[in-house]
Amino acid sequence: MSRPPEFDIDAIGREAKEIRSFSVDLPEGLGDLARQSFLASSGFCPEDRIAAEMALQFDGQTLSMPVLTVRGRRDGPTLVVTAGVHGDEYEGMEAIYRTYEALDPARLQGTFVAVPIVTLTAFWLGIRCNPVDSLNMARVFPGSADGSFSQRLARAVLQRVLRHASFYIDLHSSGRNYHMLTLCGYSMLGKQAAVAREAALAFGAPVVWAHPNTSPGRTLSATLELGIPSLYTEAYGAGHVRPEDVDCYTQGLANLLKFLDMTELEGAGLPAGYQPWLLGGSGDMDVAIKCRQGGLFFASLQIGARVRRGDLLGIIRSLDGRVVEEITAPAEGVLMLMRATPRIYPGENVAALASEA
Ligand SMILES: [Zn+2]
Repeated sequence: MSRPPEFDIDAIGREAKEIRSFSVDLPEGLGDLARQSFLASSGFCPEDRIAAEMALQFDGQTLSMPVLTVRGRRDGPTLVVTAGVHGDEYEGMEAIYRTYEALDPARLQGTFVAVPIVTLTAFWLGIRCNPVDSLNMARVFPGSADGSFSQRLARAVLQRVLRHASFYIDLHSSGRNYHMLTLCGYSMLGKQAAVAREAALAFGAPVVWAHPNTSPGRTLSATLELGIPSLYTEAYGAGHVRPEDVDCYTQGLANLLKFLDMTELEGAGLPAGYQPWLLGGSGDMDVAIKCRQGGLFFASLQIGARVRRGDLLGIIRSLDGRVVEEITAPAEGVLMLMRATPRIYPGENVAALASEA
């Protein structure tokens, strides 16, 4: 099977809808990724068949992921959308595919560029971090030309795709080990903040989360550095996809296209009586509530709960059944994120809080 032509933002034809390849050098190869993916799978697909699937995107030294592009009849903004920066977050991927299907270049003003699965190697394994170098792709931006694979991939995505955006949205979710409130978030940093806030409210997610700062390494920290108005999303997740979350993201993209005066897709518009829950706080999962002990975690509350300082969030049991740690809320707030997978290692995130705006 021949691969589509290589992505180049300037080469997208006027009034055209095209799938392109985005290739990155990977001289170290995939290693035993087919074996690891087999072990992480249900075991019904043989390892050589998994390797054959991978070979569609990897040919010895080059890894290529699809980029979906639509350029309208008339000039206008460039909306860049990414998903799969973490390999176990799927809602954004489907929202991108649905949006691409719905877009008609004859009725589009500007350019739509979407990378549905940024970290393909993590996607194959169904995990958060990049298995090639064990790095978190949301901690390596702006990347570097001579770093490890994640750093080179980040730099290529930033230089070849993200920096061309007049507006950028990165579709995340909670990942396979967590639940999270379905939300649209933005940074209150810089001149972009006013547009980002307006766009976040136009997106139409149940929760809008405003952050006073954005920590380094994210896609958004790189685009904010370039002054590009930017948003991100999170969803219930836990390695699964709720239909209402895919609907929310798809409608949100339609709402963004309308907000940017690019086109009006069917389904655009806010849910009836829309009133988002406005929350604030850092949103930095590196400083979330962590456990000191490993073992099995069992939650006592659900996401969305309002908690007070000292409230019990859950317990950790050692493998012989002793309660070795009680996890309590360090402050008052709204429970944004909660561990979904009981098996937990010392130092992992258990929960995260937001403040009510
Ligand atoms: Zn993510």
